[in-house]
Amino acid sequence: MSDESMFQRVKARFPYWGFLLAKLMAGAAISSSVLAFINLFWKPVTPWFHINRDQFCWDLGYSTLVMVWFLFSYGLFYLAFWDQKYRCRTCLRPLVMPVESGSWSTMLQLGRPSVEYICAFGHGRLSVEELQFPGKVEPAWTQQGDIWTELFALSDAAKSGSDHNPDGRH
Ligand SMILES: [Zn+2]
Repeated sequence: MSDESMFQRVKARFPYWGFLLAKLMAGAAISSSVLAFINLFWKPVTPWFHINRDQFCWDLGYSTLVMVWFLFSYGLFYLAFWDQKYRCRTCLRPLVMPVESGSWSTMLQLGRPSVEYICAFGHGRLSVEELQFPGKVEPAWTQQGDIWTELFALSDAAKSGSDHNPDGRH
């Protein structure tokens, strides 16, 4: 039973982590292509995923370009993770409507300051702490049912109810 629910949970999260993996692979492809392009202009011929060791630290132009490339690659991977944090865990759409909640002066009533984001399709909400004292605080994701399905189910029930009512009165 618990194994099955565990499996369900992993299966539900699969698109989310698969998307991150796809972004990281795309980042690696872009990054290695840029490095290969830089390597084209310096001898000797360098294989893919390799820095030209005969030029790095010896040729100023090459070394500068490789350092810029390194920062660029780092930025790409950082962006992939940053973007992932602010996406819906169910439908992968970017989260919207940041709302600040809590305050330091009324911490006991309202809690610590955090920013809450929601999925426009009502899959859940993400609470990101403003200050991260104990190192890194993972943003808290709260899963919600699909509000639109629930809403339509309600309106369908109301409609079928009103269809039946006139019959009942006659
Ligand atoms: Zn969603």
